[in-house]
Amino acid sequence: MNSVASLKREARVVVVGAGVAGLTTAVVLAEAGALVHVIAEQVPGVTSLAAGAVWGPYLVEPKDKVDQWGQRSLEIFRKLAEDPSTGVRLTSGIEASRTADAPPDWATTLPGFRPCEPAELPAGFSAGYRFMVPLIDMPTYLDYLLRQLDAAGGTVERLHLASLADAGPAALIVNCTGLGAQELVPDHDLRPIRGQHVVVTNPGLTEFFSEDTGLSQDLLCFYPHGDTVVLGGTALDGEGSLAPDEKAAVGILARCVEVEPRLAKARVLEHRLGARSAGLPRGAGGRDHLVRLRPAVRRHEVAPDLGQQPHQHRQGPDQGHARAPADRARPVRGRRRPQGAARVRLQQEPPG
Ligand SMILES: Cc1cc2nc3c(=O)[nH]c(=O)nc-3n(C[C@H](O)[C@H](O)[C@H](O)COP(=O)(O)OP(=O)(O)OC[C@H]3O[C@@H](n4cnc5c(N)ncnc54)[C@H](O)[C@@H]3O)c2cc1C
Repeated sequence: MNSVASLKREARVVVVGAGVAGLTTAVVLAEAGALVHVIAEQVPGVTSLAAGAVWGPYLVEPKDKVDQWGQRSLEIFRKLAEDPSTGVRLTSGIEASRTADAPPDWATTLPGFRPCEPAELPAGFSAGYRFMVPLIDMPTYLDYLLRQLDAAGGTVERLHLASLADAGPAALIVNCTGLGAQELVPDHDLRPIRGQHVVVTNPGLTEFFSEDTGLSQDLLCFYPHGDTVVLGGTALDGEGSLAPDEKAAVGILARCVEVEPRLAKARVLEHRLGARSAGLPRGAGGRDHLVRLRPAVRRHEVAPDLGQQPHQHRQGPDQGHARAPADRARPVRGRRRPQGAARVRLQQEPPG
């Protein structure tokens, strides 16, 4: 990506998408000196708001790159956890399984890692591991990223783009539209994986719990975030509707209460739904859970001088991957707000 690395000082960069991928990319580029303008239909992105969220790989490949990005994310989230206003907290908890007994390989080097004593495990579970990971309260974290972007001189515009050409002249366009790339690019190698979470009042939980459910569509996890707990979940392959499913919510609550009876007293506050983007299955010639991060130069379509569009679809709120295109772009020092661009502060929107 040499041509991207030669981005000129104070070049206008447009980031399309204001989920965790777009906002992280925008902050990194703005802090490095680019004149960053974010264009997004939803601010912040609904799928990012719906995440649980815990650090760790799930439905994402290739493993070598994911391990590398994951380690970078871990370093950054550990630092962010020193400041409660970021929404990131290092939290101890258990990942358990009813069938497997080997620990998840990504967990073994985490602080506090140890196999659980049988008495620590809920009924029906054969193995479990305790460790400490970053838990991320996504509404707070996305708001933190918006504040960082504002402080670095970036601007945000709420707008649906029918085409990347509508992003206006730019030295670089970074496409972080997640599933929206299906129509925008258009990228026909994308499929949705619908997920649902139930947010409840916190009856006093301080630790997370997560079951290794493999590729099941019914997940079981709960993540405490202060006064609330995010209960999960579902992962419905090929489904993109974001309408709450009452039956799925009842199932999520029942699974969580079985493991943590205190949750029976919790009051339901909201349902959060999102659709992860995945590639078509490999059997159908697609790329399944492979992260896509690729440059495309479209001089005539987008910008007469230099129209470049690193195009990324990603999984997870990890900082490492979202930083990848920004790290490569290396835009130059100094911060300046584009002439005439408004400082836009957007309030967090409820999902929907
Ligand atoms: C229920 C659930 C739980 C999850 N839990 C976790 C977890 O615990 N840990 C984890 O790491 N990950 C988790 N994930 C995955 C994670 O949420 C996603 O991978 C991540 O949020 C994707 O971020 P994104 O920025 O790529 O996309 P999005 O958040 O979808 O953002 C896309 C942005 O692009 C904009 N956009 C799209 N099309 C257009 C257009 N044409 N014009 C203008 N703007 C457009 C949208 O408005 C939005 O702003 C979970 C996902 C779900 C659904």
